Order: sequence, then C-alpha cells, then structure tokens
Amino acid sequence: MSQSKQNIKNGSCPVYKKCGGCQLQNLSYEEQLRFKQNKVVKLLKSFGRVEPIIGMDNPYHYRNKVQAAFFTDRNGKIKSGVYQSGTHRIVSVDDCQIEDKLADEIIVAIRKMLPSFRLTTYNEDTRKGFLRHVLVKRGFSTAQVMVVLVTGTPIFPSKNNFVKALREKFPQITTVVQNINPFKTNLVLGERQNILYGNGYIEDELCGCRFRISTKSFYQINPIQTEVLYGKAIEFAGLKGDETILDTYCGVGTIGIIAAKHGAGQVIGVELNGDAVRDAIQNAKANQLNNIRFFKGDAGEFMESVAEENTKPDIVMMDPPRAGSSEQFLSSLIKMAPKTVVYVSCNPETLARDLGYLRNNSSYRVKRIQPVDMFPHTQHIETVVLITKK
Ligand code: SAH
Repeated sequence: MSQSKQNIKNGSCPVYKKCGGCQLQNLSYEEQLRFKQNKVVKLLKSFGRVEPIIGMDNPYHYRNKVQAAFFTDRNGKIKSGVYQSGTHRIVSVDDCQIEDKLADEIIVAIRKMLPSFRLTTYNEDTRKGFLRHVLVKRGFSTAQVMVVLVTGTPIFPSKNNFVKALREKFPQITTVVQNINPFKTNLVLGERQNILYGNGYIEDELCGCRFRISTKSFYQINPIQTEVLYGKAIEFAGLKGDETILDTYCGVGTIGIIAAKHGAGQVIGVELNGDAVRDAIQNAKANQLNNIRFFKGDAGEFMESVAEENTKPDIVMMDPPRAGSSEQFLSSLIKMAPKTVVYVSCNPETLARDLGYLRNNSSYRVKRIQPVDMFPHTQHIETVVLITKK
C-alpha cells in the first residue's frame, strides 16, 4: 500500500509531515510496534532474547504534559502550536492525537482570550511582548490540572481577572503559575515564577503511590504505560524485602518510592535537578516512608563516591536521559558490585553502548530485555533490562 493511502487509512494527522513529532504515523499501530520490536532486536540481540513489546490498547491522547508556543503571524493573528522537529519554526496545532484533550482545549481557550485582555504574544527577535508558551500538566488519576503561563516580562496586566476568567471556563484547573523567561534560549521555562492560583504543583498516583509534580520536574508523560514500565522494573528487581536500593537519575523519586512501598529496606535516590529532588523528598513524606533519602548531584559522581564507601547496595536502578549513562557511572557500578541492576532506558542506542561496556569490563550479563511502548506514533522506544552478576 502506498504511504498516502496508509495515511488515509489511519486517519492521520493533517500536520503529520510539517510537525514531525509523530514520525511513525504513516504506519498502523501494529506496524509501529513491529518496527520498534525489530529495532530493539537489532540493537540488543547479542545481549539476549528481546521479549515482545508491550503496546497500548488505545494509543491516543496519552500525553499528560502539553506545551504550546505562541506567536503572532504577519496578519496580526495570534497562533499557537509546536516547534517543527529539529527547528525553531512553529506549526499551528489546535488538537493533537497524542496530547491530552483537555490540555489542548485550555491552550486554544487561552489563545482566544488574549485579545480581550489586550495581552500580546512574545516576539523572540524584538524581545518584546508577553506570552511565550503555555504548559499544561494533568494528573491522570487525580484529575488535577496545572497551567503555566510562560511570559517574556514579569508584568502581567489584569492577571487576577485573566486567571478568574480561565478558571470559570475550566473549573478543572487546580493551579496556575506564571513563569518568567526573558532570555534568548530554547528552554521553555525560566528561573523565576509566581503562583497565581492554587499551590503551584499537581499530584498524581502511580502504582499505589502519590507524587507531587512541580512546573520543572521530570515526570513520565504517559501515565498508563508508566505503570506498566515501573511494574516491570519492580518485577525485575525481585525484591525480597530489606534490600538497599540505589535509585539513580530518580526524577521526583517515583521508582525508589514504589520500591520502598514494595518492601525495600532502604532506598537512596540521586538526581541532578534540584526541583525534582525537592519534590522527591516531599513525595517520600507524603507516602509515609522514612527509609528513603535523596541527594542532588551528578549520578556518575555520586556512584563513584558511594563505591568508595562501605555502603553496599543490593540493587541499582538506573534511568538515565537519552544520552545514556557515563563511563564514570558504569565503572563505579562495577566496583560497587550490586547483585542486581535494573536499567530503564529511553534510548536503545545508548542502552546498547552501556550494556556493551558492562559486557566488556565486568561479569554482569543481561537476563531480560522488555520494551514498553511509552510513546505511540513517535520513534521513541523505552526498554527495561535486568542485569545480574554471572
Ligand atoms: N526515574 C525518573 C526520571 C527519569 S528521566 C522517572 O521515571 O520519572 C531522567 C532523569 O535524569 C531526569 O530527572 C534528569 O533530570 C536526570 N538527570 C539527567 N542527567 C543527570 C545526571 N548526570 N545525574 C543525575 N541525574 C540526571
């Protein structure tokens, strides 16, 4: 079948090509899963058997975090949308097949409200104007909704009325934050922020634990599949109770907190982002856990210092960003010699590289490889790997 026919067959998105975010939308969902499975097999087959990828029953509107850039076109019309993959060009998008529907509705409503409040959009060239981005985060199981208005200036005329009008339209909104980003940067969020309504964060529940998510902290974007992924990670860890676990690249502490709830004796988390660490500490408290501690810092440096102490972790969980782990991390891991390592990866290429390092430099061997489809329609692949000592 030709590609255009397939697009029609799948009812693909009208901006599929322009946006570039959903690279696999020309394939049916079954074909996407096969494509991802084949890619993981190709990269990891020398390490062991790859279990069949776990897909979604309904692979649409799964994204609980939605971001839109705002601009004014040549005709003075206010537009909002996403950056074309790999560029700084904005593609207008009102409703996206993978984003949360309510989040998209809120973004469109904000765009329509701007003129009546005489609010402008920010212009990156002149560095004048007001609204740059809107970020919406939604707690899947709590239904809490956070709206972050990213502005180029701190001055927000008639902000109280604006927030009131927005909340009247969407009573589901539980908090509104103004984030100020006056810098020439590709980062969406700036340093300073003011809470305009509510408590400045949302909460969500995963695997029976409650998590606080603030504007800047990392949180998995597909809550349904995150439970599947974490479930596998906990299964692979094979907790018997009383183990000491290191949760590295821990974000807001999700994996470690779930492990602690499942009977781990002691959990130590490490994370680079200070906001996420603050959330993680709060999350441990909210889940009534006192056998868990979090440290802010580089995971590789942290591993090196722990490897030199006499703390002997039984299990190391690692969930690095796309760039994968570092040699400092992996060599310290080998020195530390935990009996079990669970590697959660969002990039099978760097995963293969890191597993290769372990194979060449230690007696660690891969026991299980489980891909999970966290990002349907996109090319991204998540994989959980169980690694044990021979
Ligand atoms: N385990 C968490 C977060 C995974 S995302 C979860 O499942 O939600 C990867 C995390 O690694 C991010 O929170 C990022 O801030 C953090 N990170 C990136 N580089 C790091 C480094 N060098 N050292 C420690 N953490 C790092």
